[in-house]
Amino acid sequence: MGTFRQILDAHPNPCVVHINFVPKYANDAFAVFSGLETAKDVLNLETIKVLFEKSHWAEADQRYHNVIELGIPSPRQIINHTDMNGNPMIAEITDNVVDWEGQKALCTFISVVTDRIQREKQLINLAARDELTGLFNRRYFIETYNTLIKSGSIHEYSMAIVDIDLFKNVNDSYGHLAGDKMLTHIANTVSESMNEDEHIARLGGEEFVLLLKEGSHVKLVSRLETLRDTIQNQKVSVLSTHNVPSEISCTVSIGLTKIMKNTTFKSSYFKADRALYQAKRNGRNQVVFDL
Ligand code: GH3
Ligand code: MG
Ligand code: MG
Repeated sequence: MGTFRQILDAHPNPCVVHINFVPKYANDAFAVFSGLETAKDVLNLETIKVLFEKSHWAEADQRYHNVIELGIPSPRQIINHTDMNGNPMIAEITDNVVDWEGQKALCTFISVVTDRIQREKQLINLAARDELTGLFNRRYFIETYNTLIKSGSIHEYSMAIVDIDLFKNVNDSYGHLAGDKMLTHIANTVSESMNEDEHIARLGGEEFVLLLKEGSHVKLVSRLETLRDTIQNQKVSVLSTHNVPSEISCTVSIGLTKIMKNTTFKSSYFKADRALYQAKRNGRNQVVFDL
């Protein structure tokens, strides 16, 4: 093992060799990964299981058993790891069976991938969100809708479209920046009125689509009436294009439809939009339910 040991000692990736979690060899990188001073400190541990959370122990035992006893190679695994100093990180681990002085042992290599995974999560999140309001975008919303069809729970929801009334006037009178501020404000108000298991997205323009879960139709309409009323009564401070401060408010029209079992997004949207159109025709600033 002489030369190999030197190679592993110098390797930047954490590496540990153990028999049933009793450490036989570790490099300095593994000690650093574990929050210990030197490789020697690792070897002084009775079991390297103390380096990961108890909730992972059974799974780790299973992995060990599969590789050593059954010869089933274990796939690369991403785990949440906390070192001895309590620093959280994400690690990718690879296990290989090696011969350790005539005994089967497990050689585990580790890559810390915290940055990569977090960047990936950030990118996925960025791609799913609307830049101005921070709400989910159309694509993500349709994905969510389709997931709810697959899980058989889409019919527990109603769909509402909230559209700002005569929003063009805000832009025309106060400028696009004032319009943006108003839009963001209303997006926040709508979003705050919703429960954890409900969904909202900006469909583009000054229109929001909502999946709402409410036991009774009466309660749902009353909730939306309250929302409509709140928006009508809130004043937003804006600066006009000539930097004149103003307090302005907007109203919204809301089209609502109950989603039936397995109904596609397109078809639910069509119905909610038809109700919205009625609300606009009836004079705006109201909630209309599509039958
Ligand atoms: P209605 O009551 O019939 O909905 O009238 P409306 O003026 O709200 O509807 P219309 O569809 O005629 O105009 C929508 C306006 O919304 C036009 C567009 O300039 C504005 N708008 C869309 N997206 C944005 C945005 O991101 N920022 C700003 N400031 N304005 C936007
Ligand atoms: Mg509008
Ligand atoms: Mg619109």
